[in-house]
Amino acid sequence: MRVRIDEEACVGDGACVEVCPEIFEMAGEIARVKMEDVPEELRASCKEAADECVVEAIIIEE
Ligand code: SF4
Repeated sequence: MRVRIDEEACVGDGACVEVCPEIFEMAGEIARVKMEDVPEELRASCKEAADECVVEAIIIEE
């Protein structure tokens, strides 16, 4: 599973970082992905972060 962030859409509220800090971090005004290849054990929390993103800026590719 791979994940990326639509930087144009991100509003920088940090919700993804709160839910899954292993994968997401803030980089100034927007979030960024620390690891594009999501390890098995982080998939559930990464998907939860995507669900929490109010602007659907987190793109997951299975
Ligand atoms: S939850 Fe979405 S809008 Fe909020 S910081 Fe993360 S990617 Fe950006």
